Amino acid sequence: MGRAETLTSTERGVVFLVQPRLVNEPFGDAGLLLNFRFKSRAILFDLGDLAPLPAGTISRIGQVFVSHMHMDHFAGFDRMLRLLLNRTADLQVFGPPGLTDAVEAKLRSYTWNLLDETSGDFSIIAAEWDLRDGLARSRFKARNKFVPETLGVETLASARLFVDPDFHVEAVELDHGIPCLAFAFQESMRVNVHKARLDELGLPVGPWLTEAKHLVRTHADPDTIVTISEHGDMKLGDLLSAKAFVTGPGERICYATDLAFTEANLSRLLALAGGSDYLFIEGGFLDEDKAIAASKRHLTALQAGSIAAAARVARSVPMHFSPRYLGREQSLLDEFQKGLSTGLA
Ligand SMILES: [Zn+2]
Ligand SMILES: [Zn+2]
Repeated sequence: MGRAETLTSTERGVVFLVQPRLVNEPFGDAGLLLNFRFKSRAILFDLGDLAPLPAGTISRIGQVFVSHMHMDHFAGFDRMLRLLLNRTADLQVFGPPGLTDAVEAKLRSYTWNLLDETSGDFSIIAAEWDLRDGLARSRFKARNKFVPETLGVETLASARLFVDPDFHVEAVELDHGIPCLAFAFQESMRVNVHKARLDELGLPVGPWLTEAKHLVRTHADPDTIVTISEHGDMKLGDLLSAKAFVTGPGERICYATDLAFTEANLSRLLALAGGSDYLFIEGGFLDEDKAIAASKRHLTALQAGSIAAAARVARSVPMHFSPRYLGREQSLLDEFQKGLSTGLA
């Protein structure tokens, strides 16, 4: 069988699996939505103010990763719950120690007498990382009035909290006075269509390519049959031999919020974010107030920019600006840029 051709850096028009976008404007709560381009699916980092997200977007979210349970990162749980209550697909919520208690406390604050076994089969699965190799799951089932059930503890081989054939999400623990998680979304492999080869083969572009690319990404058996609408069937191996696809390293998107500017945090964050395609990073204080930022275990914009530079990321986006600087957004952006150009001392 043939192999998918390796992508060259000069290739244009690359299409990644997900599209990242901040939930709020820079002075709002931190939060990042990852929208899958070809699927009715989304992932969310943090549960702060979700008001800007349409109900239809929230209904597609399957996994939420919570950095820590300060209110500006968790208060959106209620809006999400209300919108998902009649859904049948589970919602998985990942987070640091204390997450399961926090989910339970949220659910216990409402009256559920109207829920019974005829209600929609919706469950919340809380997956609490112990910051080492344990991931403890609990289920809260709508049909059981959200009474918690313990599902057991999975031993992790690495800090990959969620693994899918097409991608995984990994976490690191940072210090924010309390443990606070930073996350990286890592696409398994980028697969693009070689349009000229498709034309040579007389094959049309169409929905069949989504499934075919998934098969390439998951290293499916080359004898797998791919159905190409009115053109009939073709073996995956034959498509690969004809070099119909090009592959390359998958996209990496990092999200780091609420962290102190310490040596330990820097080395952990650089290990997570190094060489990423995107880094979304908090940096909400001006340098003149760096003592205040340090006392609140937060970064300044200058520090955030210097971290992004040291991580050599392709694109960095500052977020979670302190409301004390409303009207001075440009000063924060300027200091972030200054950090980007000077890097870490
Ligand atoms: Zn916080
Ligand atoms: Zn915060």
